[in-house]
Amino acid sequence: MTGATLTRPPVRHRKDKLSMQDQPTTPAQSTQPSVSKSLRFDIFRRDSFTCLYCGRRPPDVVLELDHVHPVSKGGGNDPLNLVTSCYDCNRGKAAKDLGAVVPRPDADLMFLEIQQEIAEMRRYQEARAVFEAALVNVIHKLQAQWCAASGLDWHPADHIVRGLLKAYSIDVVSEAVEDVAVKVGTGYISGNGDRWVRYLRVVARNMSLGTEKPA
Ligand SMILES: [Zn+2]
Repeated sequence: MTGATLTRPPVRHRKDKLSMQDQPTTPAQSTQPSVSKSLRFDIFRRDSFTCLYCGRRPPDVVLELDHVHPVSKGGGNDPLNLVTSCYDCNRGKAAKDLGAVVPRPDADLMFLEIQQEIAEMRRYQEARAVFEAALVNVIHKLQAQWCAASGLDWHPADHIVRGLLKAYSIDVVSEAVEDVAVKVGTGYISGNGDRWVRYLRVVARNMSLGTEKPA
């Protein structure tokens, strides 16, 4: 197993590391797209799938990699610069010293690896659910905006607004909705058929290209 040959970085104190940082760790920083999955799991195996700050393991926590010397300060992906950390500890919510936890050498690594996969998938699904709820909320707000601007008692169906939000920013869609709602409300464009839908898509595209300014 390749993970067994990796050497862990020397013991250092969490508070020292935090003092080196200008700002708290952001979620974006900790996603570490540059670290391959195989290297990630090599480090996890080396550390027996244990958060080296608090000693917790999946599925109680989702494990991540922590750069001892932060990426923002030029720290790289050398195994000596990487330690296993749980989501909370990686964001500075816990303040235990690195090295306080001694991973159990008899850990069932394959079992823990599967537990980690499950914990990651669960978090991914939770993030997806949060995103979907936020998206539905935005769709409802845009539909309410349409009704307010047009004075009509109907609005574009969910899938129409959702399709626009896939292609353009919320600001662009909002401007397009406002613009077209007024035109449909005043009868400038017919609300019958689907001509207004095609018009709405054209206006959104033009606004995203900056060729149409909101009224
Ligand atoms: Zn932890």
